[in-house]
Amino acid sequence: MIDYISSLPGHAALPPFPRRLAVLGATGSIGVSTLAVAEDHPGSFEITALSGGGNIALLARQAATFRPRYLAVLREEGARELKALLPAGYAPEILCGPESFVALATLPEVQVVLSAIVGAAGLPPTLAAARAGKIIALANKESLVLAGHLIRRACRESGAVVLPVDSEHNALFQSLAGHNGADVDHLILTASGGPFRTWPAEKLATVTAGQALKHPNWSMGAKISIDSATLMNKGLEVIEACHLYGLPQDRVKVLVHPQSIVHSLAAYKDGSLLAHLGLPDMRIAIAYCLCYPERLPLKLEPLDLARIGSLTFEEPRLEDFPCLNLARAAVTAGASHCVALNAANEVAVDMFLRDLISFPAIARSVEWAVANHHGFDAADVDTIMELDRATRLQVAGYLKETP
Ligand code: NAD
Ligand code: MG
Repeated sequence: MIDYISSLPGHAALPPFPRRLAVLGATGSIGVSTLAVAEDHPGSFEITALSGGGNIALLARQAATFRPRYLAVLREEGARELKALLPAGYAPEILCGPESFVALATLPEVQVVLSAIVGAAGLPPTLAAARAGKIIALANKESLVLAGHLIRRACRESGAVVLPVDSEHNALFQSLAGHNGADVDHLILTASGGPFRTWPAEKLATVTAGQALKHPNWSMGAKISIDSATLMNKGLEVIEACHLYGLPQDRVKVLVHPQSIVHSLAAYKDGSLLAHLGLPDMRIAIAYCLCYPERLPLKLEPLDLARIGSLTFEEPRLEDFPCLNLARAAVTAGASHCVALNAANEVAVDMFLRDLISFPAIARSVEWAVANHHGFDAADVDTIMELDRATRLQVAGYLKETP
């Protein structure tokens, strides 16, 4: 039985176009794709606010193009640098620090919040947007992994709407639309398998960050690219799907599909599988969420199935890529275990990207962190963020001793 995380208002209750957007994480891969959609459809959106963690020069160029009234960055020196780069005659309000992302997410004039900060840092603004009753186009899967239960409750209380940008969950959303949730037997998330899908197990110890960053089909930020290579991305997505669709993890299956054309499938009790197919281009899912329930004509080459020829499917290699099952175990154990899992993964991925630890050490440190975590009630966001901080320190210490 599907129990969606938020209500889904009808057409008449949704904001008319142009919709006023806050784009959080504007300088990242999803943020850039979002602004590309907005640039191609100027009548559909008004960019009210943009935020960036780094890459101030890009944020300045984006701001000069879209002229939002509000900008936010992580640090004060970034704010100064940004101000100096803006064109004459344009003087937006520039905020800084983690609180500033919460401020943008809750601006009264903002109707749709595109949540695309990477990692646990995305949780506070996403939860704030949920409490403020916004429409949330959600790319930041980590916020559901950490606090899906709090976001669900906030949506119920405020009337906020969550629309999944993550391509698999967006595919499921489209495959479930108009059907009876009680008829769904299970969901199937597809996975590309990452760059090491066919590598022999013993070679995985030699993987470099450069190799792991080369995703076969998608162009994405560094963290999610590494998560795709370890299959942790699919683990996080299983947890994300449990929260979005209100299902236990054993009703969310994973199937490796190397072509990344079938983005996921809903399996109904009569044996029907409804799938969503498309090019591996995030603009499709982003535009769907920003315009829901309408669709935009996107400037993409048509999906030529005859040219692709065959779509193949296989089971994931669970023993060689243990992160997927570690995520399943964490979500079964409880919300605080998911916080520990995610924090350990973020620290390990960051250290792997800086060549400080090996590829297998990512899964090993996640396993260590979850095994050493004694679950407790992750009842509020402060408790969650505190556990996130504490686990990061512990895992960094562990990896320093046993890299
Ligand atoms: P990215 O690394 O390319 O961009 C991240 C953005 O967040 C940047 O704007 C960065 O400056 C900002 N940022 C980083 N740390 C921050 C902090 N501490 N505080 C505030 N801002 C910070 O990441 P991405 O690939 O665009 O992914 C963004 C989110 O979307 C992730 O949660 C990812 O899992 C999810 N997602 C991405 C894709 C994709 O194709 N890239 C697909 C599905 C889901
Ligand atoms: Mg995905």
